[in-house]
Amino acid sequence: MESRTVDIEQLAWSWSNEPGLEELIVTRTHSSGESIEIPVARIQGARPGPQMTVMSGMHAGEYSGILAAQKLISEVKSEELVGTLLVIPVISTRAFMERNMQLNPVDQKEVHFIRPGSPEGTYSDMLIDTLFEIVKDSDYLIDSHAGEMAQSLMSWVPVPMRGANELSSQSLELARGFDVEYVEPRYDLESIPPFCVALLNAGIANIWVECGKNGVPTEQDTATHFDGYIAALQTMKMLPGDSARPRQKLLKGKRSQINSEISGIWHPAIKEGDVVEAGQYLGRLTDYFGNTLEEFNSPNRAIVLYYWSNPAINAERRPHGYDWHNGLVSLLDLEE
Ligand SMILES: [Zn+2]
Repeated sequence: MESRTVDIEQLAWSWSNEPGLEELIVTRTHSSGESIEIPVARIQGARPGPQMTVMSGMHAGEYSGILAAQKLISEVKSEELVGTLLVIPVISTRAFMERNMQLNPVDQKEVHFIRPGSPEGTYSDMLIDTLFEIVKDSDYLIDSHAGEMAQSLMSWVPVPMRGANELSSQSLELARGFDVEYVEPRYDLESIPPFCVALLNAGIANIWVECGKNGVPTEQDTATHFDGYIAALQTMKMLPGDSARPRQKLLKGKRSQINSEISGIWHPAIKEGDVVEAGQYLGRLTDYFGNTLEEFNSPNRAIVLYYWSNPAINAERRPHGYDWHNGLVSLLDLEE
């Protein structure tokens, strides 16, 4: 199939009214002269119904969801689909093609923490605004993430639990078909990425899925994303069949992160998914020669959501205040 390129201003008029698959590259030019390009596939089902968006590659090195999204485009057939399925396999195409980790290479922003609605801002502001314009008519949205090259990450599904009860329960339903050990309902507004909050405010039930680690797209992790999409489509009666309901545990707690205030070489002593006790040793930071600069312990009983497996810790590099280069361990403090 040949894809067409359309400007975001023309997007609404660019889709056909016929059932079937269409592939568009949605573009927008930033005031800096840099251009945004977002690939969007749309499968229009044979019968009318709700709209679901599946998207991935918001962070450019999180590959398992990207491969699963591609598979979804090729496997879902219009004849069996009720409603409309939008698939965005790579959101941050610029970062993806530069093999840039986590932050946008143009303005060094973390796009998950950007609220849409400011296209006149920096490149990332416009990227997120453009993404929102593409997905805003959806009823449901699944955003696939994984661990970047530097991130050893436990697979789990956080669910933003804000807004109307009905919206929250639909979001939980989207999560229930993913074969991960933990689903984490998040009530604390501070811990919900602003993009997810904007989706909820627009009435879009949504989850983000964390599955895969260290920038390696394994077959198993890709399958977990893919099978979860199919289960969500079945749950919302957009595809025929009973949706999978793998065994999951609910995880509740408060997010916290262990950062280093000094630069050095990180020697973690924990693994993703470990439950650590209050005071438990997490690892140490050394100088270039291996001399210990600081030891780190867990302040509370917590589960290790992910840790930075990359030894290079740079306390000075905090673009826009973001603690990515000095982060050591991401924890979820467990409620007693
Ligand atoms: Zn991510």
